[in-house]
Amino acid sequence: MLGKMGLKPYTIYEIKDLTRGEPDSPKIASFKLKPKDGQKFDFVPGMFSSLFLNPEDKLFRSYSIASCPTDDYMEFMIELINGKFTSRLANLKAGDEIYVSEPRGAFLYEPDDSHSDLFLAAGIGIAPFFSMLRYLKSKDMKRNVCLFYSIKHREDIVNAAELEGYKELGLNIIYTVTRDTDNGTWQGERGRINTQMIQNHLGDYASRTIYLCGGIRFVKDIVDELKAKGAKDEEIKRDIWGE
Ligand SMILES: Cc1cc2nc3c(=O)[nH]c(=O)nc-3n(C[C@H](O)[C@H](O)[C@H](O)COP(=O)(O)OP(=O)(O)OC[C@H]3O[C@@H](n4cnc5c(N)ncnc54)[C@H](O)[C@@H]3O)c2cc1C
Repeated sequence: MLGKMGLKPYTIYEIKDLTRGEPDSPKIASFKLKPKDGQKFDFVPGMFSSLFLNPEDKLFRSYSIASCPTDDYMEFMIELINGKFTSRLANLKAGDEIYVSEPRGAFLYEPDDSHSDLFLAAGIGIAPFFSMLRYLKSKDMKRNVCLFYSIKHREDIVNAAELEGYKELGLNIIYTVTRDTDNGTWQGERGRINTQMIQNHLGDYASRTIYLCGGIRFVKDIVDELKAKGAKDEEIKRDIWGE
């Protein structure tokens, strides 16, 4: 199986803590990796790779690629939940080796002039959207893209300044916080992303290509809602991370 996955050794050159929030905020780390042989993988924004700490290991986990295809490194944004694999990732340091599978997946970003985009991200589900936005920026492609991004607390927004910068490309961002611990100072949306919230901001969104990513509950619930409102299953591109 490992041979089929096309594993390559990479070196970790930077690990950065992206956590800025409250005690119950997710602990997220960015891992930047460079291929040991200098030959980086090609990929389409939205794809994922599997990471192995050792090529002989049976234990691996898959992660969306957050970097841009033109970067000379691969970046993964990983929520360290102290599970089987992430507890081991948490002990890694710059200079360590890690094995990366050939990128794959069906959640492919294919910007198309006939459609504008609707991105829906819950928590660490933002990771593949960084790859997509970085790709648009690398091509200086201005598009009508609307991103709904739910986080527990406002401090949990990953790379907030970078996201704000994409407004120059036409990105409209609606943040929604799901925990109410800010003493009423948050002016934006609250609660999980839902179709009513989308409609309130966009009106008719039927002509948009919908990309969504997050935990299995978020994806299932929002897909059911979108379908109930008339979206066709095949028009909703999704990345499902759970079983
Ligand atoms: C295609 C794909 C892309 C993915 N991309 C990313 C990514 O970019 N970033 C990322 O952090 N994860 C991503 N994941 C999830 C990742 O593969 C692991 O499931 C996750 O890191 C937990 O692994 P673990 O071994 O530490 O936990 P385990 O010991 O395997 O699991 C512990 C439990 O936690 C649940 N769980 C998994 N992720 C979370 C979470 N974020 N919050 C709460 N509970 C969780 C699992 O369903 C399981 O029940 C992706 C998964 C897939 C299939």
